Amino acid sequence: MALNLRIPGPTPCPQEVLEASARPMIDHRGPEFREILLRVTSKLQELYQTKNDLFILTASGTGAMEAAVVNTLSPGDKVLASTIGEFGDRFIQIAKTYGAQVEVLRTPLGKALDPDTLRKALQAHPDVKAVLITHNETSTGVTNPLEGLAKVVREFDKLLLVDAISSIGSIPCRVDAWGLDVVTSGSQKGWMAPPGLSMVSMSARAWQAQAQAKTPRVYFDLAAAKRYLERGQTPWTPAVSVFYAMDVALDRIRKEGQENLFRRQARLAQMCRDGVKELGLSLFPDEAVASNTVTAVAVPEGVDVERLRQLLAKEHQVVVAGGQGSLAGKLFRIGHLGYCTEEDIRGCLAALKATLPRAGFQAVGAARRSG
Ligand SMILES: *Cc1c(COP(=O)(O)O)cnc(C)c1O
Repeated sequence: MALNLRIPGPTPCPQEVLEASARPMIDHRGPEFREILLRVTSKLQELYQTKNDLFILTASGTGAMEAAVVNTLSPGDKVLASTIGEFGDRFIQIAKTYGAQVEVLRTPLGKALDPDTLRKALQAHPDVKAVLITHNETSTGVTNPLEGLAKVVREFDKLLLVDAISSIGSIPCRVDAWGLDVVTSGSQKGWMAPPGLSMVSMSARAWQAQAQAKTPRVYFDLAAAKRYLERGQTPWTPAVSVFYAMDVALDRIRKEGQENLFRRQARLAQMCRDGVKELGLSLFPDEAVASNTVTAVAVPEGVDVERLRQLLAKEHQVVVAGGQGSLAGKLFRIGHLGYCTEEDIRGCLAALKATLPRAGFQAVGAARRSG
């Protein structure tokens, strides 16, 4: 039985993508790599729906978040950092580490940030330079209403840094139409490629900030990335194999059509949520803001989630993710971004159904009868 890897990244890769990544190495400063770099960059700009500069960094998604911070802020700059979970907290940690003065706007776990709440926070802190937002909070399975939030940020004319790592490419995230200044992603999420590359787009407003930003930076200096990209290179040695993989994966996405893909992702997510509820489980987040890339399921009373995950993996080759940080033991997560089919979701639900009772689960009806 093939592994049914249902975590929100790394996600499964199609065979042709894996095969592409096994191609021999080439000179990363030669004409062949130049073609690949320019081609992959322009495909990503198309899928980001942007004319902004876009850079592909050899790093995981967190590297792109760090690049967003160090290229636009100076120590002492005030920023308004919204957080709705673990990844929002990570963005805050990066900004604080580099000396930003961070005003935290925290939303209870399982809920999304409301644009009116953001407006009030910006009214209360008119001197912030930038706003940090997580588009899709992978730790709680919540998608923020980014279009509406971005509109508020534009009202106040602030710089907007977005962690779109588990959203862009899988659910609508329209960089230019929504006015998003710096937008990050990672190859191992919805892009169906192995981990190793991250992306960051930079608007004209972001470049203005970049020219003023005094935070020290070397590896993630996007001015260097821009200089090198003009000659078809990256400043440092790129993960060449992941470039090969991304090149093929992005063609698959373009062939399916991005809007078709968004609809398919939404359908898979709905199927997953419906199936989970049919088993007698509850979603962790408010259903109205539940993510179409990852479903977070509340762990019912009496269920040992680590035992559940072990049984799923050992007996059904289904791998789901646990809860991160303070959410450990409180939820488990089913990823359905990237390369995922209805069959994969059905398999995951069937395995859950077979396994849950042995991990301590009593459906509500059954509990009542025995009580
Ligand atoms: C996966 C993810 C990240 C980055 O994680 P890496 O392990 O560094 O790739 C950041 N934010 C969100 C919302 C994510 O889902």
